Amino acid sequence: MKLILLGAPGAGKGTQAQVICERFSIPAISTGNCLREAVAAGTEMGRAAKGYMDRGELVPDEVVIGIIRERLQGEDCKNGFILDGFPRTVPQAQALEEMGVEIDRVLEIFVPDETIVGRMSGRRVCPACGASYHTEFKPSKKQGVCDLCGKQLVIRKDDQPETVQERLRVYHSQTEPLKGFYEQRGLLVVVEGQTEVADTTRLVLKALEA
Ligand code: ADP
Ligand code: ZN
Repeated sequence: MKLILLGAPGAGKGTQAQVICERFSIPAISTGNCLREAVAAGTEMGRAAKGYMDRGELVPDEVVIGIIRERLQGEDCKNGFILDGFPRTVPQAQALEEMGVEIDRVLEIFVPDETIVGRMSGRRVCPACGASYHTEFKPSKKQGVCDLCGKQLVIRKDDQPETVQERLRVYHSQTEPLKGFYEQRGLLVVVEGQTEVADTTRLVLKALEA
């Protein structure tokens, strides 16, 4: 199965991608994670991408298209994959078609902006191991400290409130047009994100098995 996950930042794409990839034994490919790794490693790509990411803007199409083109060559992608956070613009979707990739389904996880703003303001991550928490929905055992490695939790720069607003604005202007793009191709399915992650997962799996 070749699947694209669409949804606003903070809609829970990453969490659902993890569940789906285990269920179907296919890799989940996140351009956001690839870019963050490049930033952490201080590669040339990472240095170029960092400013855009910190401001909540999109990284230029050529960069992410390059990441995906290379990643999809991987042996583990032969039986399918989940794209989490790609494509995010119409030119990225066109590039995917030009690569000859035949997508089976595009699943949008829909969550209203107000809900997203509330969720993202509580998000905390561990700078050491990457574990993520939420002050309200998924608190660490000890406040402000990672359960797994004991490091002090931080707010990702792009989760700061002004940046969240900018990411939502970018989502509506640049990424939302992809719904029409894939609807025209008969590939789009929309699932409403629920308060409980497990409830969303149930709807997602039902949509994929239908
Ligand atoms: P979220 O889904 O929470 O916005 P991601 O982890 O998917 O976050 O992405 C983080 C950042 O990486 C984005 O705000 C953007 O700057 C960059 N990015 C990720 N994927 C893409 C993409 N397909 N095109 C352009 N920029 C991207
Ligand atoms: Zn940790």
